[in-house]
Amino acid sequence: MKILFCSSEVVPFAKTGGLADVAGTLPPALEVAGARVKIVMPRYRCVDVKKFKLKKLDDETFSTSIGKNVEVLLLEKKSFFDRDGLYQQKGMDYPDNLDRFTYYCLQTLKLIKKINFKPDIIHCNDWQTALIPVYLKKMFKNDLFYKNIKTILTIHNLGYQGLFPKEELAVTGLNKELFSLNGLEFYGKINLLKGGLLFSDYISTVSSTYAREIHSAEFGCGLEGVLQKRKKDTAGILNGINYDEWDPRKNKALVKNYGPDSIEGKYENKEALQKIGKLKVDRKIPLLGIITRLADQKGLDILAEVIEEVVQMPVQFILLGTGDPRYHKLFEGISSKYKNTSIHLKFDTTLAYKIYAGSDIFLMPSYYEPCGLGQLISLNFGTIPLVRRTGGLADTVEDFDPFTKKGNGFVFSSYQAGALLETVKRSLCVYNDAKTWKKLVTRAMKSDFSWKKSAKEYISLYKSLKS
Ligand code: ADP
Repeated sequence: MKILFCSSEVVPFAKTGGLADVAGTLPPALEVAGARVKIVMPRYRCVDVKKFKLKKLDDETFSTSIGKNVEVLLLEKKSFFDRDGLYQQKGMDYPDNLDRFTYYCLQTLKLIKKINFKPDIIHCNDWQTALIPVYLKKMFKNDLFYKNIKTILTIHNLGYQGLFPKEELAVTGLNKELFSLNGLEFYGKINLLKGGLLFSDYISTVSSTYAREIHSAEFGCGLEGVLQKRKKDTAGILNGINYDEWDPRKNKALVKNYGPDSIEGKYENKEALQKIGKLKVDRKIPLLGIITRLADQKGLDILAEVIEEVVQMPVQFILLGTGDPRYHKLFEGISSKYKNTSIHLKFDTTLAYKIYAGSDIFLMPSYYEPCGLGQLISLNFGTIPLVRRTGGLADTVEDFDPFTKKGNGFVFSSYQAGALLETVKRSLCVYNDAKTWKKLVTRAMKSDFSWKKSAKEYISLYKSLKS
């Protein structure tokens, strides 16, 4: 089984969010499950040729590998990708993103023919890759090389669709007829994701609950009609995490490695984090952590409503995040007003490891969450997730019941600041019962969200599509 995995970001080369984690860890897991996999991504400026020991295949392509032998092909086009950001700079999307990702999609298809790698399946991810199924069904349909190649499009976040002015259609090289209700037209704009959803052979998303939610007007982001039409060709397969990277027993950024049998080590990391965050060093004070893109989706509007009440409780609060300038301003204000807060408005993978390890409670009050990796990572670090019941959060975090002592986190349902606040209070009550908390931490660390099971599900899906 040959798979071409297409993603605009891949760990360890380039990352803005969970998509990169998935693209860097699912292909090696597929390889272990028996597939032959290649990945294609752009060579951005951050993918340094020397640092990553990239091999030049020709003027347009570099190559390297991850896992045992998953080849990563990097498209070289300096005018498009040799920039500081992946999709935007200073909060503004690059104005030529349609040109950039049209190039990516077309060049990917040309490349596999050039190197004579004919996959059974092209697995696309999100809007940046969504033109590939459209090109296969339209532009390349008479080329025998591409015959019988099947496509899957995985939705990692329906909130990002790749919208562009209709005047730019010519950039894609697609026929004007495709700019219609049954094509890429979406309220007068070009919608790349819609094209991918209509023309791919199968659609998947990253949790069962989100796979159901996207058919509703509340979570469909305007594409619920298109998705309803394709309901029978849609599945939800839960993301896993990379246990090599996110393992407190091995992670080199920690001051002390620890596991479920040695959770004392966690509290050395907590003290170290308190020092880094210029917080009072005291193991007993509950430390609430959050690592997130600063976007409305992540529940920051309801957190904003109650953040002052939260930090006036006997807690410490540490935030790592970047994004919407409104939230930068809000948290800068909180930082200058409250000494028990530590605010880091940047993207910093090493600090993220330290926060996952050193915090007691991890906040994810998302409005919607296709899968969410933060809660899976924090569970592995024994940091108890406090989440809203939506998407992948609903599928992976079970509310703690003080009577039966079942559950691995704290869950609230209604998207309201009051519900979030109540749940923070509830979690602090459990925290104050040291014996129960220790059991909860140990149980959390024993959860298994590795890729093994999900990789198998993808392989079965690929097999069912292969003709
Ligand atoms: P999303 O993909 O919607 O951003 P996920 O929870 O699926 O959310 O994945 C987010 C990933 O990005 C996690 O690995 C998280 O640790 C990481 N991350 C988010 N913000 C930051 C940041 N400011 N610095 C470092 N890592 C971050």
